[in-house]
Amino acid sequence: MDATLRNILEKMPKAELHIHIEGSLEPELIFALARRNGVALPYASVDALRSAYAFTDLQSFLDIYYAGASVLLAEEDFYDMTMAYLQRANNDNVRHVELFFDPQTHTSRGVAFATVVNGIHRAVQDAREKWGMTGALIMCFLRHLSEEEAFATLEAALPYRDKLIGVGLDSSERGHPPEKFARVFARCKGLGLHLVAHAGEEGPPAYITTALDDLHAERIDHGVACMQDPALVQRLVRQQTPLTVCPLSNLKLCVFKRLQDHNLLALLEAGIVATVNSDDPAYFGGYINDNFIAAFEALPLTREHARRLARNSFSAAFLAPEDKARRLREVEAFFSQ
Ligand SMILES: [Zn+2]
Repeated sequence: MDATLRNILEKMPKAELHIHIEGSLEPELIFALARRNGVALPYASVDALRSAYAFTDLQSFLDIYYAGASVLLAEEDFYDMTMAYLQRANNDNVRHVELFFDPQTHTSRGVAFATVVNGIHRAVQDAREKWGMTGALIMCFLRHLSEEEAFATLEAALPYRDKLIGVGLDSSERGHPPEKFARVFARCKGLGLHLVAHAGEEGPPAYITTALDDLHAERIDHGVACMQDPALVQRLVRQQTPLTVCPLSNLKLCVFKRLQDHNLLALLEAGIVATVNSDDPAYFGGYINDNFIAAFEALPLTREHARRLARNSFSAAFLAPEDKARRLREVEAFFSQ
């Protein structure tokens, strides 16, 4: 690819809005934490674990992802995982990040909610002090579990309300439509939390519609299936509902056979507020800049698209209006060089 464009993608200021912090656990860190905590892993080595990362669909990934997360026990483990990600994000010129975390993956193993949230939150604070990178936490409910379990998780989160900016919905999409969590999301909305949901990754466009209608999601994670429903595309454009698109994830989980088939450019040309993100970077072959570079290599995207994607990443963020305006000015200053 053109060296100038590559340089722009690497250096431009950007926000990351779709990153599962547990999905940033690199095999080396999984093994280091397993040693520190005396956890036995079903893989003999870092290479054996990495070679198991040949996924056929979302579920085949989730099985390994939950095994990897089993090494996280102490607050320090959550801190180290988060700081390792934030360091990479800073290298990629991410200036603002909204991190997903899955408390149920940990509380179901006996890890206290406080351990999880305090470790992640402390790393986010340190990144702000070190690099001026702002960050916020979005707590996700695992959609393959019950509504009752989601409500119990929300109860456990209430003492930490000030550490959360919003809630999301993730894990196995098929067979778990958003409406299953309508009442949980209504309660979250009442608490003043921002609302996002994974929809239209492997699932049908109807899941995007119910995420909007029944959950009142302000942003849709993935959402690439919207192109199957022209009326839905029109609605997303009219409402300016952002999509957090993750190209390498879609490739690795076989949502698109080849990146050349990805609809990122089509989404942008339709007028959708699409953004580029890494999802689970340790598992899907790359962090945010790797996603930008791979997408721009596969599709006829230009410098102007790069500028729009950088702008979209901040417009779609849950930032205070003055902070959003400041970040958008940084993008304009970068592109006017
Ligand atoms: Zn995701």
